[in-house]
Amino acid sequence: MSADGYDHETVERRWQEAWADADVYRTPDDATDPAYVLGMYPYPSGELHMGHVRNYTITDAYARYLRMSGEEVLHPMGWDAFGLPAENAAKERDTNPREWTEECIARMKGQMESMGFGYDWEREITTCEPDYFRWNQWLFSRFHEEGLVSRRDAEVNWCPSCETVLADEQVELEDGVEICWRCDTPVTQRELSQWFLEITRYADELLDAIDGLEGWPDPVRGMQRNWIGRQYGTRLPFEIGEAPGASDEDDTGSTEYGTVEAFTTRADTVFGATFFALAPDHPISETVAEDDPEVRRFVEEEADPEGDEPNGVRTDLTATNPVTGEELPVFVADFVLSDVGTGALMGVPGHDDRDHAFAEKMDVPIEPVVAPVPDDWNPDSGTVPDAPDVSESAFTDDGVLVNSEEYIGLESEAARERITADTEGAEEATQYRLRDWGISRQRYWGTPIPVVHCESCGPVMVPDEDLPVELPEFVNTTGNPLDAAEEWKETTCPDCRAEAERETDTMDTFVDSSWYFLRYVSPDIESAPFDVERANDWMPVDQYVGGIEHAVMHLLYSRFFTKVLADHEGLEHREPFTDYLAQGMVLLDGSKMSKSKGNVVSPQEIVAEYGADTARLFMMQAAQPERDFDWSEEGVRSTHAFLNRLRGMVESFVEDDPDGDDDAVASYVESEIAATVAIATEEYEELTFNRATRKAQDLVRTLRQYADYTEPHAETYERGLAAVVRLLAPVAPHLTEELHDELGGEGFVAEANWPDSDADREHAERRRRLVENTRGDVRDIIEVAGIDDPERIELAVAPDWTYRALEVALESESPNLIGDLMGVEEIREHGDAAADYGQDLQAGREALEPTLAREEERAALESAAWLIEREFDAPVRVVDADPDAGDAEPGRPAIEIVE
Ligand SMILES: [Zn+2]
Ligand SMILES: [Zn+2]
Repeated sequence: MSADGYDHETVERRWQEAWADADVYRTPDDATDPAYVLGMYPYPSGELHMGHVRNYTITDAYARYLRMSGEEVLHPMGWDAFGLPAENAAKERDTNPREWTEECIARMKGQMESMGFGYDWEREITTCEPDYFRWNQWLFSRFHEEGLVSRRDAEVNWCPSCETVLADEQVELEDGVEICWRCDTPVTQRELSQWFLEITRYADELLDAIDGLEGWPDPVRGMQRNWIGRQYGTRLPFEIGEAPGASDEDDTGSTEYGTVEAFTTRADTVFGATFFALAPDHPISETVAEDDPEVRRFVEEEADPEGDEPNGVRTDLTATNPVTGEELPVFVADFVLSDVGTGALMGVPGHDDRDHAFAEKMDVPIEPVVAPVPDDWNPDSGTVPDAPDVSESAFTDDGVLVNSEEYIGLESEAARERITADTEGAEEATQYRLRDWGISRQRYWGTPIPVVHCESCGPVMVPDEDLPVELPEFVNTTGNPLDAAEEWKETTCPDCRAEAERETDTMDTFVDSSWYFLRYVSPDIESAPFDVERANDWMPVDQYVGGIEHAVMHLLYSRFFTKVLADHEGLEHREPFTDYLAQGMVLLDGSKMSKSKGNVVSPQEIVAEYGADTARLFMMQAAQPERDFDWSEEGVRSTHAFLNRLRGMVESFVEDDPDGDDDAVASYVESEIAATVAIATEEYEELTFNRATRKAQDLVRTLRQYADYTEPHAETYERGLAAVVRLLAPVAPHLTEELHDELGGEGFVAEANWPDSDADREHAERRRRLVENTRGDVRDIIEVAGIDDPERIELAVAPDWTYRALEVALESESPNLIGDLMGVEEIREHGDAAADYGQDLQAGREALEPTLAREEERAALESAAWLIEREFDAPVRVVDADPDAGDAEPGRPAIEIVE
């Protein structure tokens, strides 16, 4: 079924086949530093959705633009093919993840081809193929050699429904509850032996280098900075002991707990510390729990790190404040996390909101030790501000110290320095929010971690020559599938040859995507994950495009991998993506399209009804790539109608073979063509396809009006049509290919030269503004004066001296503009007219803009006169205004309409 108009299905298929036959989108291996344009590879779910179509139309349009501009281009595509959904789908359908994934890929690839995306399919990569994932394993071994892999027991986020560990980044917060990013099930904690990639070793560089990522959106840079979360502070040593009289008399002696360090960014508040708190899984908490049933119950049952309220239990221990010598009660508290800092903190309820809530609940004293700085405060006066009332809520800003002995009167920052320097055992410290990256997953459909567990040797890396470690046949189980693959598990130790077992966890699929952009450079290389020399020439990716949901995980991991590969594998750049664009969402009736809500527009149906070109052009036109926009069936129809009209214009031009004169009208059209090309080119450079395509559409309208007004000059008209075809080719590649052919263009428009123009954008815009304003003014006069049938229209160009006056006004910085103007003889001699115009210039001074020069303005009006004649059906004459009449200004000719 098809909407009215050209047979888009035939047109689109014809050109897709022709491009494929001619290898138009192939990037030869000997290309020199091609422009690398990349869309985030999709997870093969089986259907391309609108988000994909938008993402990939953006990269495709940009890649096509660059190719036409004479650049070599690398624009590849692949499949993020491992992952849990395939495993679940396979279970539901009683098949296996591999078959399911392959079917999905075949389907989505067909859909991509039907959209006309120009990919170099010779470079396609699929992460679930051994040819790819063996390099995940190889890289894991290299990271291990460099000491960037560790194995440790860790409290991990556990999704009871997916039965898998989740990385911190895969846990989302909803109404204060941590939930699984895939299935929204509340996350619980488990202790498991896990493999970690030590991304924290690169925390400083990952953070500091964000400043240099100038081609990234600021919000994404901010999100990465927050995620890494570097904090400067102080580590303070607290002596832990038992409170006097706490132990039973028959106890053999007090237990030694030694010193526990606590990190704080607010050492200036140390005099306000009224308690000390330990994480539930801190070793001291665990020791105490052995003898203290209340602590045990709290640790084992009550502690809830995700809870809305801080919770804890008091122990019989005390902690000695290293600055005041005061003994503080020690709590085990669930808001203290063992993997943040040292798993211990000093509680300052007067100056921290959470500590305040905890103190209220536990009936711990709340004391103010920092006061807000009074407006008129003089630090040298010796006076001290009043302590704030912190009984209801904490005062959390920096301020001036009170109730802090010798530090009273110091400002917070100075106090932090002094206290850190003065306190024995205290030291400046840096803490990060970023954790090491736990990559172990207890699932089947992922890269097997290349490790063998031997009873005598411990965990041993599988030697490179034994890679890849392939997956066994699919095991359909609710537990860890590889653990259930008994035969597969059995192996021998690479070191001692004893019987041993394979590691049964697979890797987080974010490992796959942390370097896939490097594989495209040399997808078939068998001796390494990528050809280093070529990667050094072709990388980094010049323009990366993909959803903002990857702002932290994928983009941060990719940066981490790139830095490690630069340090150890000869890569010569340390950042993978020079420019990154996060495309906005396609909404339907204001909300995100979602299958579960049933508000989805299927790209396949739109393509069937209107064609890929319509879908692509509509999307690129609807909004700037970064913005969300609402899907509009009406917009789709009008885009479709536009393409049909354009086709009709090309057809009639070819049939009619017009023979008009190269007159003033032709020269106006000529200058519009040049202006359109200049402006649209700038917009393509900025990826603002919405503006670029609007300009092309405006030119189409001008050409239509031209053909409507007179018999067009053939060369001018054809140049206009050819320019439109090229300007639209990146976005609507099929129909423009067809029209290029009809206009007798050689080769493919996809490979044609981008039109060039020496038009100056600013000049062109001034000219357009002049013509638009003048037409608008004529329209207004005719309407206001109620003129039915104008006989003739006169446009009077302002006199020379007014241009001179505008020039003076634009340059003048003096408050007395009139004085400046009257200092110029050429202006002054026009008396009242000069004074009046001077007043106007003074009044509108803030908004003054340069106009065309007088002769340019006159020429522009003459060449655009036909548009006015056509609109009002009356002859138009351009004349000189009376120099003393004061009715014409630069950019605003005087208008006389004769009835
Ligand atoms: Zn889940
Ligand atoms: Zn061994």
